[in-house]
Amino acid sequence: MTDCPLCQTPGGELLWENNLLRIIDARDPLYPGFTRVIWKAHVAEMTDLSPTDQLTLFQAVLQIESLQRELLGPDKINLAAFGNMVPHVHWHIIPRWRDDAHFPQAVWAALPETDAHTRAAHQQRFHATAALIPAYHAAILDRFQS
Ligand SMILES: [Zn+2]
Repeated sequence: MTDCPLCQTPGGELLWENNLLRIIDARDPLYPGFTRVIWKAHVAEMTDLSPTDQLTLFQAVLQIESLQRELLGPDKINLAAFGNMVPHVHWHIIPRWRDDAHFPQAVWAALPETDAHTRAAHQQRFHATAALIPAYHAAILDRFQS
């Protein structure tokens, strides 16, 4: 669709793609490791996909979850699919830590008020995670190329 951003652009930094789906780094300013799996065809809901395609898509999401656990070691992983803003099927896979900027709220919530000590902890978490991203991206390529 010509007015759909996920039909017109990758939607982030392209990490891997095949003819059905692509995996992108969301380039989120607060959350390194925030990854999206985007179905290439313009469909709004998971149930618009055939059962085989549903499985293919969800298995890719679960592979990303698994790689985040292995490579990033988060306290929790958030899986989300909304499509309210962009009704084109895509999944958000977000590694979360107890000391990240929004925890335990969703990353889309307003930033909570914090003190300088807590903000420093958030910064430390951000940099520690960012340092792991090259290995995480390499592992995505390894997993999906094979
Ligand atoms: Zn689209």
